[in-house]
This record gives sequence, C-alpha cells and structure tokens, in this order.
Amino acid sequence: MWLAGMQRPDHHTINRFRSERLRDVIGQIFAQVVLLLHEEGLLDIKEVYTDGTKIEANANRYTFVWGKAIKKNKERISKQLKELWEYAGSVASAELGSQEPDFVNPTAEKVTQTVEKINQALEGKQVDKKVKQKLNYAKKNWPGKLEEYAQKEEVLGDRNSYSKTDPDATFMRMKEDHMKNGQLKPAYNLQLSTHGQFVVNYSIHPNPNDTLTLKPHLELYQSRYGFYPSVCTADAGYGSEENYSYLEENSIEAFVKYGLFHKELGQESKPNRTIGLLENLYYDSEKDRYICPMGQPMEASGKSTRKTSTGFEQQLHHYRAKNCIGCPLAASCKPGKDGKVLQVNRQLQLHKARAKSLLTSQEGKQKRKQRATDVEPVFGNLKFNKGRGRFMLRGKEKVAVETGLLVIAHNLAKMAR
Ligand code: SF4
Repeated sequence: MWLAGMQRPDHHTINRFRSERLRDVIGQIFAQVVLLLHEEGLLDIKEVYTDGTKIEANANRYTFVWGKAIKKNKERISKQLKELWEYAGSVASAELGSQEPDFVNPTAEKVTQTVEKINQALEGKQVDKKVKQKLNYAKKNWPGKLEEYAQKEEVLGDRNSYSKTDPDATFMRMKEDHMKNGQLKPAYNLQLSTHGQFVVNYSIHPNPNDTLTLKPHLELYQSRYGFYPSVCTADAGYGSEENYSYLEENSIEAFVKYGLFHKELGQESKPNRTIGLLENLYYDSEKDRYICPMGQPMEASGKSTRKTSTGFEQQLHHYRAKNCIGCPLAASCKPGKDGKVLQVNRQLQLHKARAKSLLTSQEGKQKRKQRATDVEPVFGNLKFNKGRGRFMLRGKEKVAVETGLLVIAHNLAKMAR
C-alpha cells in the first residue's frame, strides 16, 4: 500500500501476485535480503544452525490415503485372483492351459485378462454359485480399483501417506499434540538454517524424517548463494553416514550429533548395556577382531554392501563368533544359527569419532549451546508469536511461497528491532 500511494489492491490481486509472480522468485528475493543482512554485519551466512519442524497443512485431518492400505488391498486382490484361477484349474484344467499368469503386483489390464480367461475356461461347466458371484464382482470392480490404486501410488511417490485435500502434504506425528492421542496430521517438514536467529535458508519437505532433508536443504542453499556454508551445526536427527559424507565432500565442518552421542558421554541416566551391542564390545585393533562378553574372539568374516532408501551405499564389515552353543548369555546376545555375527559400518564409526571430537571441543560445546538458542526460538516465533502453526495455502509450491514471505518478514522485523 505504501508503494502504491496508499491504494488498496484487492484480495484477488494479492492472491494472484503471491501465486503467479512470487512462485519462481521468492527464493531469490529471500536470498537478497539475507545477503543484505550479511553485508550489514548482522549475520554470518557461512555458519549455520539447522533444524526442522512440522507445520500442519491446510488440509482435512481425516482425508488420508495410506500406502500400506493400498498395498494390502492389492495383495488381497492377488490372493483372491489366484484362488479363482486355482478353482478354474480344478474344474476346467484343459481349457485354462498350463501357463499361470503373474499374480504379483496386479494391474487393471492383467486382472481383466485373467478374469476373462477364467470365464472362458468355465463356460458351459458346472460352477459353484459363490465363485460365479466372485467372478462377476471381480470383473466389475477390480480393474477400476486397481486403476485408482495406481493413480494414488503415483501421488504417494516414496511417501506412506497423503491428504486428499492437499496431496503434497504427508501425515506426520506432530510435536504439538493437544489431544495427547498421537494422532498423525497432514503436514510439511519445514527445515531452517539460521544464524543469530536470522533465517539464512529454508526448505519444505514432504517426508517427516530430518535425516533425508539435509542434503536437499543444503543444495538449495548452494543454488541460492552459489556456495555451501562452511560450518553446519545440527542435532542427532541428521547424524547419518550419508549426511556426514555429503558434508565432508562439500568441505562443510559438521558439528552434527549422532544417535548415541549423549549416552556415550554418560549424560543420559540409563546407558544401553545390552549384551552383544557393538558399542559394548571390546575391539582389538591390532588383530582386527572384537571380543565378546564371554571372552570369545569374533574374527573378521567378510564384507557386504547395503543400500539405504535414498540409494546410498554403505560398506559393512562382518565379524563372527563361531561357537555360541550353550552360551548362558545367548538370550540377550541373540546369536544366529551359525553363531553371533556383527556388522560394522567403519565409515560411520570414523565420521562419528570426528563429530565427537568436534562436538566435545570448546568450540563444539559453544555451538551446541548456541544451536538451542539460535534456530529453535525462530520456530517458536513463527509458530506461536506469528500464529503460523498451520499453513494457509495448499500444495508444496504455494506453501513454499507462504514460508518465503514469512521468513523474509521475520528477518526484516528482526533487523528493524
Ligand atoms: S552368544 Fe556367542 S557372542 Fe554372545 S556372548 Fe555368548 S558366546 Fe559370546
């Protein structure tokens, strides 16, 4: 209004501007504001504190689509189709032929063809009334259902759920659980990097797990500024091998905790003393072997590779205790048929050792303290002071614009203060 000589643009103009004009440039505008703040000496753009929070989507809580339910329904159709095929085989094996169709992962086309084939084979035969009804039901309903499942699976992608009113939103467990019933709500995972309580980077993610968001979040940082941050401080939710490797490859000093960090420092009341747990075993580095609680050496027995859900490859070193028969600790140590096997991720151990030495240094202690008072108050300000505990817009693109405006406003208000 100030820029327009106090004329009031109407609601549609503002809405169109927000949805159409800002969509592709909001990130750049945000970055320009951050660079301005950096030039003013109000923040250090290269040293960031990263964390995430879930913000409820503007979607109905009861309009969910669950990936697991779709999988189950498809399995049920597969099973029933196979039963129908077997019945037809018992009544008219010659007409049916010997080549069994593929019942795994049924599609509308596959099911239509199979039902057709069964119906042809059973023509003129004495068929159980219930089977006839089932076949009619299958012909009428299953292809349509399977097409619907295929469409829903496309929307799901690699998620387990989505909301029908905002298909980009995923059902997540929220921190704010006023009913205290653990209800999952449609939401987005908002990732922020801050410095001095100014937002330096923001990104919106459909997956609730913070571990998977760090890489795309920092890639967005790189595309906004043309470089990576030099230092990143984050909590244990980000401490995976993939993230540590990524940070190392891009020369980002990682003050990033890992799962058992506080337990290792003895800062949690109940250290995990489970027998047979890697962390509780003695490692003989000279002979490259572990010693089990009964004093049996666990010798190196091979290597394997494992892929994470993102396709990241992990190398595992195996160690085996050969003779576990009759061991009094077997109930808690849980050896397999061929003795106890340990799978050790050496690379992750090295990353953790490096992270531990950084986090326990004087600088690391200061950064851990700073993290809690840097990024977390920004979430508090946005969600509670600004009343943005729920998005107003629907769809990932629009939610990103809404967030961009919100964090720009947060930064400018803080600068003014
Ligand atoms: S079960 Fe095997 S590895 Fe575990 S404590 Fe007993 S002997 Fe050692």
